[in-house]
Amino acid sequence: MNEIVLKGIPAAAGIAYGPAFILDKGEFIVPKRAILAHEVDSEIARFEEALNYARREIHALKEKISQRVGLKQAQIFDAHLLVLEDPTLFEQVANGIRQHRNAAEYIFSKLIKKYVQTFSKIPDEYLRERAGDINDIARRVFKHLMDETKLHDLDNLQNELAIVAHDLSPSDAVGLYNKKIIAFITDIGGRTSHTAIIAKSLGVPAVVGLKDATLRISNDDPLIIDGQKGLVIINPTKATQELYTKEQSQIHASLEKLEDLKNLPAQTTDGKKVLLLANLELANEIPAVKKFGAQGIGLYRTEFLYMNRLDLPSEEEQYQAYKQVAEAVVPYGVTIRTLDIGGDKFISSVQIPKDMSPFLGSRAIRFCLERADIFKTQLRAILRASVHGQVRLMYPMISGVGELRQANAILAEVKRGLHEEKIPFDAKLKVGVMIEVPSAVMTADALAKEADFFSIGTNDLIQYTLAVDRVNEKTAHLYEPSHPGVLRMIQRTVDAAHSEGLHVSLCGEMASDPAMALLLIGIGLDELSMSPSSILAIKKMIRSVRFSDIQRICLETMQLTTAQEVEEFVSLQMQKLGLS
Ligand code: PEP
Ligand code: MG
Repeated sequence: MNEIVLKGIPAAAGIAYGPAFILDKGEFIVPKRAILAHEVDSEIARFEEALNYARREIHALKEKISQRVGLKQAQIFDAHLLVLEDPTLFEQVANGIRQHRNAAEYIFSKLIKKYVQTFSKIPDEYLRERAGDINDIARRVFKHLMDETKLHDLDNLQNELAIVAHDLSPSDAVGLYNKKIIAFITDIGGRTSHTAIIAKSLGVPAVVGLKDATLRISNDDPLIIDGQKGLVIINPTKATQELYTKEQSQIHASLEKLEDLKNLPAQTTDGKKVLLLANLELANEIPAVKKFGAQGIGLYRTEFLYMNRLDLPSEEEQYQAYKQVAEAVVPYGVTIRTLDIGGDKFISSVQIPKDMSPFLGSRAIRFCLERADIFKTQLRAILRASVHGQVRLMYPMISGVGELRQANAILAEVKRGLHEEKIPFDAKLKVGVMIEVPSAVMTADALAKEADFFSIGTNDLIQYTLAVDRVNEKTAHLYEPSHPGVLRMIQRTVDAAHSEGLHVSLCGEMASDPAMALLLIGIGLDELSMSPSSILAIKKMIRSVRFSDIQRICLETMQLTTAQEVEEFVSLQMQKLGLS
């Protein structure tokens, strides 16, 4: 087996080593189980019995439907019966058990996958959709072969695995928390997709945008995942393995060394202080926030509380979650962002129409203004939690003053309600605006008069400024944080905020790149918020440089005209200063 190196987009740093697990959402996830030679006959009999059970079930269902609804509708099940009664199906599975000495459910799952693939390639739409029927039939058979709860979910994984998927939604990724997952590998996606962000929260490396990883990698293939360089190595040779083992221990050692900086201030050698905060997606990340010495939470992405469930979180549940985070970070504060769904994040409890361009559709504050009921519940919970620490509130994707006023009007109504009910809240709660849409930048002067602070969300600001989808691997090379257009947007926002005496934070992924962080400090950002694991490397850069040098580099950079020029110039300057 030859070593194969796949190159993708590095999305979460780290190195992992382990077997591949191809996650196909429509597929049955059945662990491989070997059987002994003397078990072959009983295994075949077990499979035959499961087929019989499934047939009887379908006959009974057909009978019921024909009595209640009509014979015509009941005939749908004839096709299911035809599949189950097909002698080749039985023969193929029996032969597979004999040849491979694996359990019936595993052999059957492989065969079903082939059936489904064949159906899904049929040009005729009606026939293509029969793939769903095949899965239905298979589920009935599986039910009699194994514990049904072990199907279709990853809860029962026994070994550490690298998940390989065509696509992985942010909610799928969150659902993998604590599931012995060592890495994420996807065909599609970009560096700032929320799946990549979740991989960072889970502390596992991720390589996205590999285009055809699911075709080139097979289940159980040994893999090395290099999240720093964006490489996936299939069947690594001994030499490669040794190389990575060495690299891993070097990374470990330098991370350990960074921990010495935990309690030291993020301050340049000539005394300029910068606040370094953490982004939080899951409450489980609080220990990491502390471990890396974050000065609070600059962005709490609350939408993850709404994922992987069929109902909406109640006010009480949200209150408890926000209170827990607010109390955990005292004496620092937490900036709670109101619900930002849509785009690449969806929740089961609310049906949002699938827009043609979801990032331009009903997302974030737009959704909340449409669904004031959901918004008010969240605002009540945040307000109630505001007495338990230093809580700030901010709205995502504000495009101008009109939206800010609408959101604030709802907030005022919620405050009145709490006041009447004599429920305590922080009456001086600071309310900020995320600057992630170009129109918000262009009206930042007006927004600054009505907001308490700004937080620049560059993940979105870059996509909306450059018209480059943040999750599309095909245009990922055009997604340029160092584009002069982006840098000027940031500069304009910071200047507008400072003219009104407002504090400006930046919470996009850009803040965790030392070269970009250097520019951002030069532009005048007061605060950078990032995934907790990036904080110490940024602090190291800050503590090794003079602010006067940063200002000089920044001034010259702002004269440059392309992203490439910016990157080359900053990289050269950093080398000269011994920063890289
Ligand atoms: C951003 O857009 O930069 C941001 C921080 O928000 P999110 O990544 O959740 O869209
Ligand atoms: Mg955003």
